[in-house]
Amino acid sequence: QTTIERIAAGEVVERPASVVKELLENSLDADASRVRVAVEAGGTESIRVSDDGVGMTEGDARAAVREHTTSKIRDISDLESGVGTLGFRGEALHAISAVSRMTITTRPRGGDRGTRLRVEGGEVTTVEAAGCPEGTTVEIADLFYNVPARRKYLSRDATEFDHVNTVVRNYALANPAVAVALEHDGRETFATTGGDSLRETVMAVYGREVAESMIDVDARELPAGPLDAIDGLVSHPETNRADREYVATFVNGRYVRSSAARNAIVEAYGNQLSPDRYPFAVLDLSLPAGTVDVNVHPRKMEVRFADEAGLREQVRAAVEETLLENGL
Ligand code: ADP
Ligand code: MG
Repeated sequence: QTTIERIAAGEVVERPASVVKELLENSLDADASRVRVAVEAGGTESIRVSDDGVGMTEGDARAAVREHTTSKIRDISDLESGVGTLGFRGEALHAISAVSRMTITTRPRGGDRGTRLRVEGGEVTTVEAAGCPEGTTVEIADLFYNVPARRKYLSRDATEFDHVNTVVRNYALANPAVAVALEHDGRETFATTGGDSLRETVMAVYGREVAESMIDVDARELPAGPLDAIDGLVSHPETNRADREYVATFVNGRYVRSSAARNAIVEAYGNQLSPDRYPFAVLDLSLPAGTVDVNVHPRKMEVRFADEAGLREQVRAAVEETLLENGL
């Protein structure tokens, strides 16, 4: 394994949270209805992501850790018509395996045998039959064991866990139909039910008080613009949080950062928002595939909208209308 390869891996894998993001995306792409993430020492010692998704055959699992191997797009036209899966580069498993000790235990749905594959520093070391349920468990031990410079730059366990928690939370909120659980050092941090209710998911993640105080976004008169629909929950101005801002936006089930959407929400609250309070919002934006560019840097969570101004106008209008309808 060359230095170049390790640097390339570092583009995808910055810290435990980036590993968790990639593994979680793979589980969601694999049609899982339950995903459990368990980390030790903030993810610096170990990361385990288990799902009940489609699973892999031995051949699939061997291919999965090879460079640039993806089962998700076949040619460039798939990219142009808009990618429906969270992953598509075929880089993540290979890159993670290059800088850790990885174990994949997997059995395809309806398949009668499971496989356990061990990879160390990018090299497959063992492949054996395994008794395991349908679905996939990927375990990462000793992240950056062979990249000491990178390992040295990891933060305290608590800080690394904060990053992990943020990632898992955001994916849980973006996917209320999937039961997502997070464990740290053997203790469960949260677990959503997978009952497909955003409010229930918010309750599992942020607690009853936050969930009950939020208002359903209800926008009947959406102005013309790039969005087909806006769904979600926003905070009641009186219960806006004093500690910090929290605006989570999702585009077609993908967590994204969008300053356009964030600014639109703040604008909608207008002077109802006292200077020491911040909005709290979870918004799901639906756009036709092809009007949003997901082919951005793998580590960033930004997407480019073809019509940012139109999007901002629609989000502002939707939140304003929601507040008005609630007499606010
Ligand atoms: P990408 O997600 O961009 O395709 P990855 O390196 O993340 O690339 O994964 C490579 C391939 O491994 C995927 O395309 C998929 O076929 C397979 N794979 C990875 N994780 C899982 C999983 N949890 N369940 C089923 N298949 C998986
Ligand atoms: Mg992937």
